[in-house]
Amino acid sequence: MSDALFNDATAVLTEAMQYAEISPDTVELLRQPKSVLQVSVPVRRDDGTLESFTGYRVRYNDSRGPTKGGIRFHPSVTLDEVQTLAFWMTIKTAIVDLPYGGGKGGITVDPRALSTHELERLSRGYIDAIADFIGPDTDIPAPDVYTNGLVMSWMMDQYSIIQRRRVPDVITGKPVSLGGSLGRATATGDGGFYVARTLMSRVLGDTRQPTVAVQGFGNAGAVIAERLHEIGCKVVAVSDSKGGIYRPDGLDAPSVRRVKEGSGQLTAARYQGNVCDIQDYDVITQDDLLGLDVDILVPAALENAITTRNAESIKAKMVVELANGPISAEADKILFRRGITVLPDVLANAGGVVVSYFEWVQNRQGFPWTAAEVDERLQTRMITETERLWSAATERGTSLRVAAYAMALERIGEAVDAKGSTDAYRPKG
Ligand code: NAD
Repeated sequence: MSDALFNDATAVLTEAMQYAEISPDTVELLRQPKSVLQVSVPVRRDDGTLESFTGYRVRYNDSRGPTKGGIRFHPSVTLDEVQTLAFWMTIKTAIVDLPYGGGKGGITVDPRALSTHELERLSRGYIDAIADFIGPDTDIPAPDVYTNGLVMSWMMDQYSIIQRRRVPDVITGKPVSLGGSLGRATATGDGGFYVARTLMSRVLGDTRQPTVAVQGFGNAGAVIAERLHEIGCKVVAVSDSKGGIYRPDGLDAPSVRRVKEGSGQLTAARYQGNVCDIQDYDVITQDDLLGLDVDILVPAALENAITTRNAESIKAKMVVELANGPISAEADKILFRRGITVLPDVLANAGGVVVSYFEWVQNRQGFPWTAAEVDERLQTRMITETERLWSAATERGTSLRVAAYAMALERIGEAVDAKGSTDAYRPKG
């Protein structure tokens, strides 16, 4: 297995350890995942043939509680990627102070090549294969790229069939009718928005109408685009896997989303009542979008959007990492040297796991919260941890990412030592 992504992701740990007071036990426990499962999922295709897909589930570290992390369906899923995402979840759950560790799962598949029935058989087959590995008190999956509420409901139902009782708290990101939380669908974009809004004036000064470009106009990217648009930012460019659109005067983010949802295409249209006039826009490439002279750049697609290849061409003042790992370790250093403020993924996209945690709590209480309660609690947690991180980075003179890892390491370290670190137990005399 190539460990390229994992090695790149863990490089920051070494730097962060200089700023964190942690025991050697913690360092040792974080060097590799706690457990790794690889499975083969045979699926009966609609034409009667049988095809097997490779799936993974990784539990990286559970010092602070059950492992938590999404399930990704994508053709480029590898064990290296799943393990790296599980590592990031370990850091992320600690930064937003959830009683969880980090995990992740994935299947190497192009879900667009399967029918809905085939996808359902794949989702249920995956749960059959990993059922002994997950559970409400051990490992709790959720959606990630190309999985959604419907996939979560098949998975929760399959797990409940295996257990012969209803187990809603085994998985989060479910539809509300099956125990999902209000606000979960928009939580990642909402959380990123609260982080960005908290730091906007500190990073951009008194810029009157900050300009924004969003790479990856999906679940997470479309929400932050709309929320930034609502507070008066000018969203000038957005993209998806097929390409990008650019309009220097600003796109109407909500109508772009409606058009994309309706047609599957990214086009810029403005709806006013029944009148729909197409706005002028230019078609641009991903690289053009990433290099635009905007105030805020939001990479919200996949890993490694910004590497040493294009880091010098980034012109944004603030980068909000809604995707996991969109900036490579070397590129991150270049951006820091160039004075570009990166709001790191482990905090910027943590809104999803925060509301997933709220969903798990509501399932265990059997008592659903209102949308306003969810939003207020999400907002409070994101703003509190953003302020804490900003102070730590300013005090230590580090990037927000290094400060975030240091903060997470200390929280994980406290749990490790409380369970009985060799350092914590030193017979006196
Ligand atoms: P999604 O599938 O809803 O959206 C992804 C979008 O990115 C799609 O519009 C797709 O067309 C686009 N895309 C794919 N490849 C691209 C490319 N090369 N260039 C530009 N656009 C491209 O997925 P999502 O849930 O919005 O997740 C996006 C990112 O956010 C992922 O990195 C995911 O791990 C991260 N994330 C998501 C959540 C969540 O709750 N959804 C939580 C934390 C992190």
